[in-house]
Amino acid sequence: MSSPDVDVVIVGLGAMGSNTLMQLARREVKVLGIEQFEPGHSRGASHGGSRIIRTAYAEGAKYVPLAQRAWQLWTELENLSGERLLDKTGGLVIAPTGSAPLLAPIASANAHHLPYELFDPHQMRQRYPQHQLDDETTAFYEEDAGLLRPEKAVCAAIRIAEHLGAKVLTRTEVTEIIPDAKRPRVRIGHEEIVAKHVVVAAGAWLTKLAPTAMSRVEVVRRVFGWFESDDAAAYTAERFPVFIRTDATGSYNWYGIPSVDGSPVKVAVHNWPSLDEPVDPAVGARQPDDHDAELLADIVTRTLPGLRPQPVKLQSCMYSLTPDHHFLVGGRADLPGLTVLGGFSGHGFKFATVIGEIAADLAMWDKTRWEVDFLSPERFDKID
Ligand SMILES: Cc1cc2nc3c(=O)[nH]c(=O)nc-3n(C[C@H](O)[C@H](O)[C@H](O)COP(=O)(O)OP(=O)(O)OC[C@H]3O[C@@H](n4cnc5c(N)ncnc54)[C@H](O)[C@@H]3O)c2cc1C
Repeated sequence: MSSPDVDVVIVGLGAMGSNTLMQLARREVKVLGIEQFEPGHSRGASHGGSRIIRTAYAEGAKYVPLAQRAWQLWTELENLSGERLLDKTGGLVIAPTGSAPLLAPIASANAHHLPYELFDPHQMRQRYPQHQLDDETTAFYEEDAGLLRPEKAVCAAIRIAEHLGAKVLTRTEVTEIIPDAKRPRVRIGHEEIVAKHVVVAAGAWLTKLAPTAMSRVEVVRRVFGWFESDDAAAYTAERFPVFIRTDATGSYNWYGIPSVDGSPVKVAVHNWPSLDEPVDPAVGARQPDDHDAELLADIVTRTLPGLRPQPVKLQSCMYSLTPDHHFLVGGRADLPGLTVLGGFSGHGFKFATVIGEIAADLAMWDKTRWEVDFLSPERFDKID
């Protein structure tokens, strides 16, 4: 294969790579995207039928402008693709009254003057009787929250990018990346592709392709389950907002998504003590087992009694966890000519559109108008 005439190569066309590809194609940049599996596959972190999107961001007020822009760009992707990718359902954060996990979204909402409501247990039992809660619990509610369709979104972005002239290689594994300030290269076996810039959006596999960037990242297993109800109508997007629920410390954190596209309610754990099982991405996340089913069934029995506790389906997936659970977006001095997108710590999908925009800026101009210094891939270098 002769050296194709591309300016930018993108390694990995999951959530982040597909949106970066589309952004660069829209800017008429000569771009090549390389994916080891088929678009929309279920072996990385961007599958499972649905993802939560929210705006009053508990993980930090700095994310709010990114969430707002991401939302605009999701709507743009829907218009461009003619696909329904996002359903606005409203969103709940349910936590012990006065606890840090409850105060966090309130702080982000106040910092950016976002509208929200607080529901005490009585109001929650009126509005969302699906949730079982005690009298020491409060719910934060925001309208600008909902669900996204990950596989559809990834495939739509790639399709539009190809339509705009992007080159795409699927079922093609990049075996090595050679950083260089002017002419970074990617290797596919014995073949070599030379570009002006490389965006590495390889998800959990980044640990292999850009080890210095991922030295502090842990790839761990997560499982989600789908649960049916005798009263299916009560769990549709109109009556059952996406939710996150936690204990007072946030160590026990789980979430749910209403029934969508024929799939019943999805419930999964985000944080739980002794849950982090390491995963080798080359092998993939271990298939769900009885223990996973029991953990989710117990959560459902105690907090969502209207659902049948036995999951009708389980699926596993991979988180790339950074020590502070913030993303890795940007360059590194020891990886010249590369932009790294990784460490999305189980909450990156909603931002994929704006991360794509930021990565395209960095690939073209080595700078972006978005405030992303707090996501620098070098921030752990000085920490022993
Ligand atoms: C169970 C679960 C639930 C989640 N829930 C939410 C949620 O509700 N809301 C939210 O915002 N986020 C959520 N997330 C997080 C979100 O899904 C991820 O942050 C996001 O999908 C990461 O996208 P990515 O592009 O980095 O990774 P992937 O989508 O995994 O993309 C990486 C791609 O790179 C390809 N690749 C890797 N190595 C190579 C190579 N050598 N050559 C070619 N291609 C390669 C892979 O095949 C893959 O397609 C969740 C994640 C999980 C696992």
